[in-house]
Amino acid sequence: MEDILVIGTAVLMNNDEGHRLTGIIKGITSTEVIMDFNHPMADKELHFTGTIVSVRPATPDEIAHGHVHGDGGVHH
Ligand SMILES: [Zn+2]
Repeated sequence: MEDILVIGTAVLMNNDEGHRLTGIIKGITSTEVIMDFNHPMADKELHFTGTIVSVRPATPDEIAHGHVHGDGGVHH
């Protein structure tokens, strides 16, 4: 156990709802381990490029739901 208690090590943990979260060890004291559960890309400036492959009007269901259905959207 002690060999993973190194600053910068990523440790997989479960929260009280059973979700798995990866935390990075940020600090270690004699009684505490300080961990950062932010996503590694948090606070980074991200740039994306993409190509619009098609455009279509929203369906009445999509307008009512406020989100896209079908490929790349919500399926329900
Ligand atoms: Zn919907």
